[in-house]
Amino acid sequence: MKAGAIYERPDGRDTKKMVATSKNYCLTERCRGLVHKKKEHSPFCAKCRTRRFAKKFPLKYSFNNLRKRAKERGHGFDLSFGEYESFALRSGYATGKGKTPDSLSIDRIANDGPYKVGNIRVLTLSFNSMKAAKKSFVPFFANQIENQAYQPTAEEIEAIQKQLAEHEN
Ligand SMILES: [Zn+2]
Repeated sequence: MKAGAIYERPDGRDTKKMVATSKNYCLTERCRGLVHKKKEHSPFCAKCRTRRFAKKFPLKYSFNNLRKRAKERGHGFDLSFGEYESFALRSGYATGKGKTPDSLSIDRIANDGPYKVGNIRVLTLSFNSMKAAKKSFVPFFANQIENQAYQPTAEEIEAIQKQLAEHEN
């Protein structure tokens, strides 16, 4: 939005129409964030812009975050957005991601390998953190679509259930 342009808040909070200046309030209802001059192409503050992007393109948002975290932690990243999107949709990650222990997270099968097709699978967050804590491989039940070669044996399943029971106590 250019300086001098007139805009209206959607909530009708203002009796006067707003004129864009170098410091505008964000257009989101109840948000008092500021819109800086450099970002005037959008009438929303930085936080609201991120939020709106995440809502509109949830997979793009999570893809960018995954790539960013991989870079921060020094992990390789060899996934295109298309590959990521298809993995997320087929594995159930797209709908199952979140922050609760039962939410799904993306795990690298070979720990020293990059994020790439064939080296990623979904685990529940509790499994993933258990794996990190024990620094050893913990089998899992989560969706196996990307990793169908792995089929836990009856003994492994029993061991998992035992570990889960211990984990819950
Ligand atoms: Zn805002």
